[in-house]
Amino acid sequence: MKYLKSYISIGVLLLFISCNKKEEGQNFDVLISSVNIVDVVSGKVIENQSVGINGDTIALIESADKSQNHTGATTIDGTNKFIMSGLWDNHVHFRGGEELIKANKDFLKLFIVNGITGVRDAGGDLTPDVLAWKTAINNNNLIGPAIFTSGPKLDGPNPTWAGSIEVENESQIITAIDSLESLNVDFIKIYDSRISRESYLTILKEAKKRGMLTSGHMPFTVNLGEAIENGIGSVEHLYYILKGCSSKEKEITEAVIRGEMGFWDSFEEVMRTYDDEIAKNTFEALKQQNTHVVPTLHIGDVLSYLDENDHTTDEYLSYIDPGIIKTYEGRIRGALNASPEAKIRRKNLQKMFVELVPRLQKAGVKMLAGSDSGAFNSYTYPGISLHKELEEMVKSGLTTQEALKTSTYNGAAFLGHDDHYGTFALGKSSDLIILSGNPLEDITNTRTIEYVILGETVLNKENLNQMLATLKD
Ligand SMILES: [Zn+2]
Repeated sequence: MKYLKSYISIGVLLLFISCNKKEEGQNFDVLISSVNIVDVVSGKVIENQSVGINGDTIALIESADKSQNHTGATTIDGTNKFIMSGLWDNHVHFRGGEELIKANKDFLKLFIVNGITGVRDAGGDLTPDVLAWKTAINNNNLIGPAIFTSGPKLDGPNPTWAGSIEVENESQIITAIDSLESLNVDFIKIYDSRISRESYLTILKEAKKRGMLTSGHMPFTVNLGEAIENGIGSVEHLYYILKGCSSKEKEITEAVIRGEMGFWDSFEEVMRTYDDEIAKNTFEALKQQNTHVVPTLHIGDVLSYLDENDHTTDEYLSYIDPGIIKTYEGRIRGALNASPEAKIRRKNLQKMFVELVPRLQKAGVKMLAGSDSGAFNSYTYPGISLHKELEEMVKSGLTTQEALKTSTYNGAAFLGHDDHYGTFALGKSSDLIILSGNPLEDITNTRTIEYVILGETVLNKENLNQMLATLKD
């Protein structure tokens, strides 16, 4: 009996020790010590924390002062550094035909090197490749950002962009959406080069019926209010938003339907008739319907000043495949050959777009940071252009927090993936970046990347520089 008692006490003691040991320290795939967390949602920095990662999730957030003796298969000293959710570029393109597949695949490296761990591909002609990359990345067989894609764009007959699905009537629209649904696309992208008013509205209605997300340009034969009412998920670029702020939108739309006005004539009229009261109502409708807006300010700036700015010595050109650079020529020629009036109009328009962004923000409209980088979009380089977009947003009047939110949080929420992505919290995605500067203090600090973490894979500065160097040969 006496012996039994002491066995029990030893057992209890051992149990106590093992429990205590467990509390003392856990083992993580990655352990980052003494790091400052940038909480983009609250706009606050939570100083001096221990962050643990297991698999693809954040498994520990704890004050470094109270932190137990944890261990990590990989450890990072986060002293004086800032950790946050990886950036998302919410408007990119993979395109340019068979010969440019490898060049497009190289973009994945440019995104990662720039801390972009999620991209929304807004349509192109490389869908099978993009879907293969997406799967390979998800299965950890390829390093790249999480890809969300629309697959091919929908447009009318003889569309501008190669690879678009041409639709002219309801039965073609149903067949097209069936095929997109079977490809399991993340959203439907509608383009406006040739699409009719009827087809455009039918696509929106059909997608809504099926619970599919839409995103697009908008033909000027449609009023913005009609697109919003019919459930467009996001409006890409600000042309269409500005149209919806005109006191003459209805008249302009009718003139375009009758074929009396083209895009640019009607745009002069749109710019001339901006009305604060109408704009207020439009912003309210966007907010009420949760319609997201993608301003793409940086590319607007680059393209508006192509006639003045020389980009031939841009550092990033050395990372871009010559085949992609060749596709830049079209827009450059267009800009140089434009009439003096058209050049001025383009610049004035860009100014109006910049002014629109803080107004949208103030009105509570959700925006998405997107660069529109990809082939054909001259000098808008994948990766770095997202940082420039965030900088343009701040220059326009957004706070650093508001700008960051349009990339990380809004990007994930728009696509319905905010259960995993977009916030720095326990159990959420461990696609993260570690910066040497606080981006809430100065937005250009998003460029001060020290580490990119993809799930449990840690890439330090040396790894990132090596990745970049492979693009130079
Ligand atoms: Zn685009």
